[in-house]
Amino acid sequence: MRNHAIERSPEERINWVTSIPFFAVHLACLAALVTGVSARALVMCVVLYVTRMWFITAGYHRYFSHRSYRTGRVVQFLLAFGGSSAVQKGPLWWAAHHRDHHRYADSEGDIHSPQKGFWWSHVGWILSDKNNTANLDNVRDLAKYPELRFVEDHDWIAPWALAIGCFLYGGWSGLVVGFIWSTVLVWHGTFTVNSLAHVLGRRRYATNDTSRNSALIAVWTGGEGWHNNHHYFQASARQGFFWWEYDPTWYGLKVLGWLHLVHDLKTPPARVRAAGRVRDGSFDMGMFKAHWAKAAAALAAARHGAAPGEIAARREHMEDRIHASRAALEGYVASSLRSAEELAKLSRRQARELGLRES
Ligand SMILES: [Zn+2]
Ligand SMILES: [Zn+2]
Repeated sequence: MRNHAIERSPEERINWVTSIPFFAVHLACLAALVTGVSARALVMCVVLYVTRMWFITAGYHRYFSHRSYRTGRVVQFLLAFGGSSAVQKGPLWWAAHHRDHHRYADSEGDIHSPQKGFWWSHVGWILSDKNNTANLDNVRDLAKYPELRFVEDHDWIAPWALAIGCFLYGGWSGLVVGFIWSTVLVWHGTFTVNSLAHVLGRRRYATNDTSRNSALIAVWTGGEGWHNNHHYFQASARQGFFWWEYDPTWYGLKVLGWLHLVHDLKTPPARVRAAGRVRDGSFDMGMFKAHWAKAAAALAAARHGAAPGEIAARREHMEDRIHASRAALEGYVASSLRSAEELAKLSRRQARELGLRES
């Protein structure tokens, strides 16, 4: 039913040829049947999962995409190089796309909106040609560093070095289980933030999108499951806003802060954390828009249904009337949406400014 609403342009279809390496790496996981699974390789798998996930969440996401803390050029370079070992392309590509996700969340410009289906948001958006290149105007603050452009252009160095290291340290089992298994797991772990974090869990804050907080997703993503918190206050280096909201990426950043390797870690003031709650009646623009889009798509799909036999003419007449009412309603809703969006934006800004002033 839902598929009626999904329209794909040719460049949004999976490119099976350029996606061969992606599928080949998945298949290569089965080589463990031949190499066996040594204890050493399993430990390598866990360590490489946790470390590389951290480089993605603390580096690619919270630093390069959101600049939620500051650091020097050496650590900045290490964050970029470490992140590139997770085989998710370079930091500029990653951050440029991610900034667009926040800018256009759940609208047409959202590169991996789950409104276009689970698989599209999980892997489809990466395997199609559409997002091969990123809009580098989005990341001019990063592109000015030659060492970051170097990592971007040579994003194969870290993964290959790591793969060779795994082979030398753990043999074939080290390569397959230590490197390849953990690579695939980090991929899908990261992808669930795009595919599930706007679907699974609860909404604490009224935001302009459908982001949710999920303790479950936070477990395997090092704290990125508090995605509704994150959309509400993207500037924060901490995504679990309360002590019970498990956020290992943040714990790691705190330790680096104590070691003076990073500084100016931004966190939301208590007033901001207390404001904007759906529970307290803040207008939930994001869910309103999502429900409206679904209803409009269902109506459009009903209109395209087959109309055989003698009642076709009567049906056509009815459809014309429905169409006219729908057009009128859509016009009305579009203008209401604009006003509501403006209102929601103003109230969010007011809450934030009040919070920032009073903390
Ligand atoms: Zn983000
Ligand atoms: Zn999101």
